[in-house]
Amino acid sequence: MLKLLRPVLRTKINRKFDRFNLPYKVNLHITYSCNSRCKTCFIWEKYRKKPELKDRELKTDQWKRFFENLGDRLYWVSIGGGEPFMRDDLVGIVSSMNTKNLCVLSINTNGQLTEKIYKTMKELLDMIPENVRVFLAVSLLGYEDTHNLVSGKENAFKTSEKTYKKLESLQTKYENLYLERELVVNKYNVNEMHKIAEKLNEEKIPFTLTFSQESDYYDNMGKNVGLSSKERKLVANILKNLRIPRYQRVDIIKEVFKKTAIKFFESGEIPKCYSSWCSVRIDPYGNVHPCIMRNELIGNLVENEMDLEKTMQRSEKLKKIQEEIKKKECSCWTPCEGYQSIVQNLSFL
Ligand code: SF4
Ligand code: SF4
Repeated sequence: MLKLLRPVLRTKINRKFDRFNLPYKVNLHITYSCNSRCKTCFIWEKYRKKPELKDRELKTDQWKRFFENLGDRLYWVSIGGGEPFMRDDLVGIVSSMNTKNLCVLSINTNGQLTEKIYKTMKELLDMIPENVRVFLAVSLLGYEDTHNLVSGKENAFKTSEKTYKKLESLQTKYENLYLERELVVNKYNVNEMHKIAEKLNEEKIPFTLTFSQESDYYDNMGKNVGLSSKERKLVANILKNLRIPRYQRVDIIKEVFKKTAIKFFESGEIPKCYSSWCSVRIDPYGNVHPCIMRNELIGNLVENEMDLEKTMQRSEKLKKIQEEIKKKECSCWTPCEGYQSIVQNLSFL
């Protein structure tokens, strides 16, 4: 993790002096295929409406070129979708990453493909150096009935529990695996949230918190799925009494995230955001966006030889986007973007 210090400092300086900065973290959404039917996120509908888009997803060799171009300037990779395990080449994609400076690889899953997820994770963990922390978060949407209702699948809860239990067996062999539940707080489960979190704490199951929000990425703009102002206040109050255990040193970041979430839900205030300096979101077709909430196109990797640096440096929009972010013209609080901003804002840096 100490390896992160150098790019974090570089990013801090470059943001301050309005200089170009190559992100050290990439949020890769490698597919929009999804086997859930969520009520709060409509990514699963994308290929039902436009099946032809699926063929445009970046292929394994394109991801390979992308990672070759980044070389050892890759420190933190987060993989999501859609459901990332629906791609058959996840191992192939990860195998092309340069792991010299890689500190963190995190993957999010809805846990519906038990055997495939287990087999793929085993292959990945056999391949990845032990000094890379591998986070795998299996989503949890409420108690059984709520989870099934929100995910739109009858047995989704039982299947995700089964997947989590099976994956637990990998933890004894692979010490760099950090398995956790991703407790996605939404309008359907907000009243259960505290009890669920406490139950996870009793069972010593680590969890990370996320909150349902509206964005183009989730295809849920205007669908009234975000938390209402009343629900946001309720969440803030619940968070004040919520215990975040520290199973490992990195869990300190979750405590900071929680404290900031309380502020965000009470007043809309967030710390300095470093998205687009320290991280970018890349969609399945190679489009580079500043974060998961802002949908502006910085550029497209395919049009720029799969080179992130060239894509960003040639962008006509990046400067304006970064000016707006600096002026705090947008605000949100989500772990995909918040965790790296927390690291950037650590007071000793
Ligand atoms: S929230 Fe996750 S599981 Fe649900 S539709 Fe969106 S990508 Fe799929
Ligand atoms: S505050 Fe949120 S919406 Fe704005 S740039 Fe940061 S992550 Fe994106």
